[in-house]
Formats: sequence, structure tokens, C-alpha cells
Amino acid sequence: MTKITVAKGDGIGPEIMDATLEILKAAGAELEIEEIEVGEKVYLQGNSSGISSEAWESIRRNKIFLKAPITTPQGGGYKSLNVTTRKSLGLYANVRPCFSLSPFVDTKHPEMNVVIIRENEEDLYAGIEHQQTDEVVQCLKLISRPGCEKIVRYAFEFARKYNRKKVTCFTKDNIMKQTDGLFHQVFKEVSEEYPDIENEHWIVDIGAAKLADTPEAFDVVVMPNLYGDILSDVAAQIAGSVGLAGSANIGESCAMFEAIHGSAPRRAGQNMANPSGLLQGAIMMLNHIGQTEVAEKIQNAWLTTVEKGIHTYDIYKEGVSKKKVGTREFAQAVIDHLGQTPEILEKVSYEKGSPLQLPAYKRKQGANKELQGVDLFVHWDGYKASEIAERLQKLNTENIGLSMITNRGIVVWPKGFDETFCTDHWRCRYTNPNGQSVSKEEIVSLLQKAIDHGIDVIKTENLYTFEGKPAFSLGQGQ
Ligand code: NAD
Repeated sequence: MTKITVAKGDGIGPEIMDATLEILKAAGAELEIEEIEVGEKVYLQGNSSGISSEAWESIRRNKIFLKAPITTPQGGGYKSLNVTTRKSLGLYANVRPCFSLSPFVDTKHPEMNVVIIRENEEDLYAGIEHQQTDEVVQCLKLISRPGCEKIVRYAFEFARKYNRKKVTCFTKDNIMKQTDGLFHQVFKEVSEEYPDIENEHWIVDIGAAKLADTPEAFDVVVMPNLYGDILSDVAAQIAGSVGLAGSANIGESCAMFEAIHGSAPRRAGQNMANPSGLLQGAIMMLNHIGQTEVAEKIQNAWLTTVEKGIHTYDIYKEGVSKKKVGTREFAQAVIDHLGQTPEILEKVSYEKGSPLQLPAYKRKQGANKELQGVDLFVHWDGYKASEIAERLQKLNTENIGLSMITNRGIVVWPKGFDETFCTDHWRCRYTNPNGQSVSKEEIVSLLQKAIDHGIDVIKTENLYTFEGKPAFSLGQGQ
């Protein structure tokens, strides 16, 4: 018997969770269920995180969490509970299998069988945002070496364990050379440890187009958080429906299982929603906790049900489907088929084994780091770069001087085009004119001088080299 925490969520959540739990019970899953309340009700009671401390205790005690989708109320102040749960519990790997059920579920991609492995803790989902000037807001994109190593290694270990042949990486490192560049670099390093598995890298834009057009060319695809969020919905939808895909969020000690879709409020309370996504999440949970035989039995019954054309509205198609059913009737049909295996779709047989365990990340020795200068970010409502440059050059000393100004990343001084549109947010780079390093004291006195000259510095960013290599972006056009 395994004790798990269950949250029925919002919108269609309670209906699809009831359906899922009934199937699990009928199949003989040995589960003791502890239910918690999270989501909309908790938010609206004034708890901006959407979860109480008792609910946290239950999840941390049981370590296995089966969660229906929840609604994050629109508007300021409410933090996404999904993101908070994934990050607080260190659930670094989000695994989303998307496979076609052709010819029984209509799809343009009958051969598709892709697993999206999405980094789950960092990237733009750090949620660190600031308004900096009247015109400009900022969201920090944080990518870490441990984050990249853990997710990339997970993808290769996953491929090896489940006999998959290839791992593909998507990034945009032609533009984001530091952040996506690190992800790609780590992918190159880790892939060398897995010579038995093919590897490749695609720039995410053309990779996404290829995935949407020819998904059968991909096997396991690993990517940073935001791209993975978007492309796993695309992959699930082109395989048949977002209502079909489940998701496992795996950490070193805890794990959370869910559907990939949201709470679909427009469909709530009508006995319409497809419970398959959450059921797929629950099957991954059963495999994770070692109840492999029950997982296999449910999956084969589910495949049989789909194969018999018993479909919810989202996958129902005249001429392909046989019977349109609601959430409850679909669950009952899966229960009725327990013990059966599909005739045309491939039946599953899961191997018993322990969940993937990766070695804990070991911090590497720090590199030799040298301070080369500073970017002062300045709020100024003028338009001509040469005007602000003239004011800023008054701060120059022998060891630190203005070398470049950019606006939204594009160089506008010392050279620039009149056509470049400028906002009120200016990045003003100070470096040592002799090419030597600078000291923190010189930066502090530069800032003091800026204040004395009435320059509105809204933030600074130090410029470092690591082992002699510049670790900051150049200006565009520099
Ligand atoms: P959604 O995924 O809830 O629904 C979009 C549409 O997809 C629905 O209108 C419906 O047509 C279809 N759909 C989704 N699930 C289905 C199912 N099981 N069966 C049949 N059709 C289904 O996306 P949304 O409308 O953008 O988001 C609604 C709410 O869900 C938002 O508050 C959002 O924050 C939240 N959300 C929660 C999670 C989560 O809890 N993990 C994930 C995504 C979105």
C-alpha cells in the first residue's frame, strides 16, 4: 500500500480525478489516498500561493502527489501553484510522452511517438520581473549549470532505460549565447557520455516547425522550460488532443503526476472532459512507485477502449469513432476492459524497475574570474544617444571610461543609425580603456559620480571574464 496525496483541482479537475481514481481502484492499485485542497478556493480565501501549510506537509510526507489541473486566478498577486510546487520540491524533470493512437484517433501524424523532457525549475519561470523605467519592464532568464546537467542527463538516462535511440536538444543559442548557449554546451558534454544514443541539436524555431510537421523524426527531445511548455502542448495536440497527454514531474525525493492540460473552465461540470491525460499521469505514477502490473493492466484497457472507438468529444470523429461518451462513461468503459489487450494498437508491457536515479550534482571548482567593467542601466527620457554620451563621458577616469551605449541591446553610440528607435532605457558600458581589469572600488566611485551628476542609474551589471573568456554579451552591431 502506498500513501499518496491527491488534489482534485478546479474546473474539469474534480470530474477527471474521480474518473481516474475509480479506474485505479477497479484495477487493484494499492493506494491510500490523502486529499488536500489547493487552487482557486484557497487563492480566493486570501492565500496568494494557493496552498496551505498543512497541504504542503501532506505532499512532503507522502512524496507522491497526483494533481488535477487548477485555475490560477487572473490578475496580480496570485503566484502559479504549479510552478511553485515544481520548484519548491525540486521537481527538475518534466516528462511528457506524446504518441499517436492512429487509426483510432484522428491525426496527421500516425507514426508519432515523442517524449518531451522539459526543464522544470528555471529559465524565464524564475518569475523575477521588474519595471525599470517608464517604458521598460524586464524578466530575468536564469539558466544554471546544475539545472542543465540534471535535465540533460535525465533525458539520456531516460532514453537508455526505455530503449529510445535518439535525444534531440532545442535551444536558441544563436541569439542567447550565454543562457541557451550553456544549455547547448552541457548537452554536447553530456552526450559524449552516451555514445550508444544518437544526439542532435536544432535551433528551436526551425526545430519546432519540424516537430509540428514531421514529429516521427524525433524520439526524446530535451529543452529549456519555456520552449518545453509550449512545444509539449503542440506535440500533444498534433498527436490527437491535449486531453490525451500526461506528465510526470520528477525530483530527487518527491514526484508529482498530472495531465498536461489546464482546468478548461468552459467544459467544467458537464461530464464532457477527457480523463485520459490525468489517467496517463496516474499510470506513470504507478510505474514510478513500482505498481507496474496495475499500470500495464490499465494502459492496455485504455488502449482497448480507444481502439473500440469509445471516445470523448475532443477526439470524437464521425467515421472514425464509434460512440461518443462523457467522462464517467469513458471511465466505466476502461474499467469494463480491464484484463483485455488491444488488437491493433501495440499492447504495452512494462518492466519492473526502480525509478531513474541520477547522481547528485557536485559543484565544480570555481573558475578564475576577473572584473572587466560595468554596465550602468540608465533611465533617461531623451532621444539622442550622443547627448547622454556627452553627459556620461564626464564620469570617465583614467581607469574606467564609457565605451558603448546600447538601447534594447542595439549599439547606438559611439556609432549608430538615426533610424534606430530608442526607449528611455539605456545600457551604458564602462570598461578600462587600457584593456586591464577594474576594481569594485572604481565602480562604486563611478556610481557616486553618476549620482552627483544627476544620472538616474536604475541597475548595474558587472562584466566578468571567466578563465580569460568574456562572459557577457556584446552590443548588437558591435
Ligand atoms: P486548458 O488546457 O485548460 O484548456 C484549453 C482547451 O483545451 C479547453 O477549452 C478544451 O477545449 C481543451 N481541453 C483541455 N483539456 C481537455 C480535456 N481533458 N478534455 C477535453 N478537452 C480539453 O487551457 P486554458 O483554457 O488556457 O487554461 C485554463 C486554466 O487552467 C487557467 O487558469 C490556467 O492557468 C490553468 N492551467 C493549469 C495547468 C495545471 O494545473 N497544470 C496547466 C495549464 C493551465
